[in-house]
Amino acid sequence: MMIGILKKIQKHFNFCSESNMCLHVQYSQIWCSSQAGDFGNENVELVQSIADLNLPKVVILGNHDSWKTQHFSGKRKDGVQRQLECLGEEHVAYKRLDFPTLKLSVVGGRPFSCGGEQIFRRSLLSARYGIQDMDGSADRIYNAALGTPEDHMVILLAHNGPTGLGSNLNDICGKDWVFGGGDHGDPDLAQAISHLKETTKISIRLVVFGHMHKELAYGNGLRKMIVVGADKTIYLNGAIVPRVRRLVAEQGTDNTNFMNNETSVFSPGSRGTMRAFTLVEILEGRVDKIAETWVSVIEDETAIEEEHVLFQRGN
Ligand SMILES: [Zn+2]
Repeated sequence: MMIGILKKIQKHFNFCSESNMCLHVQYSQIWCSSQAGDFGNENVELVQSIADLNLPKVVILGNHDSWKTQHFSGKRKDGVQRQLECLGEEHVAYKRLDFPTLKLSVVGGRPFSCGGEQIFRRSLLSARYGIQDMDGSADRIYNAALGTPEDHMVILLAHNGPTGLGSNLNDICGKDWVFGGGDHGDPDLAQAISHLKETTKISIRLVVFGHMHKELAYGNGLRKMIVVGADKTIYLNGAIVPRVRRLVAEQGTDNTNFMNNETSVFSPGSRGTMRAFTLVEILEGRVDKIAETWVSVIEDETAIEEEHVLFQRGN
């Protein structure tokens, strides 16, 4: 069943977004996908191709998706406007999308986040969403979650994770580009989560995001990609970059090497690609398993090549 699902994923997901989170809800045999943004530097065509996928999905745009558009323009249709029009209600910034058959609701955080204390693209957020500061942004996320059906599991989807998950350079939202690290999480997201936990019975089981790359700057190793809180909320970073890697056939052998580079997949000797997906399996309203999964795609053939289990319920 998983292979069947991954075949479906590979068929459609032929793009280079930095983080794919594929949520697989077993009991209903329906799966949906969430995208934590940074599809390209305002790559409208790519976002359109995702919007065209005929499957349940939710998206939040990242800082790279507002790369050229710093301000709201009422006169000209900019790249941000065109991406938002493609995605429609599936762009969940400051909104909630309910999937009644899955008993699942997805609540979106602040779009275009770049992490840290400052609001990225402040004038854009002000014009489009009426957001002036972090407190206002936290309130909007909080309000989006209110009214979630009682029997629904909630997933928070944001481009960057919340503050409070560590300040070492290899922590899930740790600054890896400065000596000594630091917490680069979104304070508004952290505030909204703690406010929801304090004042409502909404069950936030999973917070998913991207932005902070798994491979640390200056060859400092790899980032922690998952944190399980004391209250069992799971924080998951899906930013495996690059997520598409080239497979190269060695001349005169059947061996296929796994190349860690981003050269063209169409170059001579190319045997296809390996693609990373962070797969979340949800069973009866609970997260059952999370795995970083690498799928080889060679012409029409797909296969699971590697699976690194990040979380297994009961462990
Ligand atoms: Zn980003």
